[in-house]
Parts: sequence; structure tokens; C-alpha cells
Amino acid sequence: MKKTPYYHEVGKEVAVFEKTYENKLPFLLKGPTGTGKSRFVEYMAARLGKKMLTIACNEETSSTDLVGRYIIKGKETVWLDGPLTKAVKEGFIIYLDEIAEARPDVIVAIHPLTDHRRELYIDKLGETIKAHPGFMLVASFNPGYQRGFKELKPSTKQRFIAMSFSYPEAPVEQEILVQETGISKDIAKKLVTIAAKIRNLTDLGLTETVSTRLLVDAAHLIRSGLPKRLAVHVAVVEPLSDEYEILQALRDLTDLLI
Ligand code: ADP
Repeated sequence: MKKTPYYHEVGKEVAVFEKTYENKLPFLLKGPTGTGKSRFVEYMAARLGKKMLTIACNEETSSTDLVGRYIIKGKETVWLDGPLTKAVKEGFIIYLDEIAEARPDVIVAIHPLTDHRRELYIDKLGETIKAHPGFMLVASFNPGYQRGFKELKPSTKQRFIAMSFSYPEAPVEQEILVQETGISKDIAKKLVTIAAKIRNLTDLGLTETVSTRLLVDAAHLIRSGLPKRLAVHVAVVEPLSDEYEILQALRDLTDLLI
């Protein structure tokens, strides 16, 4: 069994997930990138003693990638189960990360798995399979308030138990940085202050703002000996924008804070 990864609970998500699993319902995590969604699902899988398969969805991801395909083996064609089919048969958790990015046929394929039927139709085999009692469908999506991200239809969203993930309160975020990277409390506090300041700069028109992930990255770099300001420039500031003036302003701001 894999070691349970570190996860700091932010709200009531652990109890909600457990009850969702018990009731054989699908679970949707909403929220911007880097807010601990994947970590949370990994943590829950380990806590429940379950195997988990993750699919990072993108615009190329099709139902074939998930359900399975025929492949040529020597002179024969053989059927190969995809990760979704495997999870449905064997009772794993499947985590469809950024599900809204996938092709529409992915949504069509998962619909019968997200209601009382709990079944998967494999059109290429003309077969319908009932999900194993331990199967759970978990998906994440980044709501459309950011440019460039696709929406999820209300009719799809309404099939899931859903929870929003966001940036944790300052003391919790500090604790995460300390636990995750071994950095001092003092530096963790400064990094969290930097994040709070940048998150408040809504006028900059950043597509995404500072996530906990970026702070964790900066903390790792500092922990391994990179000067603090440089670490913040490369781990926090640079990933946020490509515009020279914005970068300059953010560098000046962060230099004052660490
Ligand atoms: P998402 O899936 O939302 O994009 P991740 O789960 O990959 O984000 O989180 C990015 C990183 O942030 C994790 O690798 C972890 O270091 C850290 N992190 C964020 N939130 C938490 C949390 N609540 N507990 C522990 N680590 C967290």
C-alpha cells in the first residue's frame, strides 16, 4: 500500500468525500490550478485504501483513450481496456483532472456512470458493464471565470457532488509550506504575504494568480539554497505573466516583502 501523502484539510472535504464514496456518488472538485485538488484525491484514495488512476485531460482526450481500443499484436487485433474501463471493472477511483478540457464524447461516455445506473457502455464491443461497488468517478475542473478555460455544462455538473477549492487561509497556507518543504515559519509567512498581495492585484488582469503550488515551488528552491528573492522571481513572478512591465512591477513588489 502506498504511503498516505500529506494533505492539510481546509474545510469539511474529507467527510464529504467519504460520504460521497459510501453512497457511490461521483465527486467534482472545482477551483483554479494549484489549490490542492489532486493532492486531496490522492490523499483520500490512500486513506480509503483504494487504488487510483489519474487522467490529465486535454483537448485531445477522447472516450477511446478512456474506454479502450483495439490494438494490433502480431497478426491479431486485441482489445485493450482503457483506464476508465479498468477502474470500472476493478473498483478503483478514476480521477479525470480538468475534465472540461476533454472532447465532448468523454462526457457522453461518463454520463451512465454518474447516475443510478453506474454502468459503462463500450460501443466498440457492443457491451455494457456494471461498475464494481468500489468504483468511484472523481473529476476536477477550473471554472470559467478565467479566460481560455472551457465550461462544463450544467446538466453534467448536476450529476456530481461538488466542492470548491481555493487558496487556504494564511495560517493554513503557511503550515502547508512548512510541512511540505521544511522551510522556516518566518519564510513561509513571507511567501504567504507575497501571495496575498499579488492575489489582491486584480487590476493586473492576470489569467491565473499565485497558487499554493507556486509558493511550494519557491519554498523548495529557497530550502535548497537559492537566494530568496531570485527564488520568488522564478517560481512565483515569472509563471504569472509574460509582460515586461507587469513582471518588473511584481519583482519590485516581491523584493520589498522578502
Ligand atoms: P491542483 O490539483 O488543484 O492543480 P495540486 O493538488 O497539484 O493542485 O497542488 C499543488 C501543490 O500544492 C501540491 O503538490 C502541494 O504541495 C500543495 N498543496 C496545496 N494545497 C494543499 C493542502 N491542502 N495540503 C497539502 N498540500 C497542498
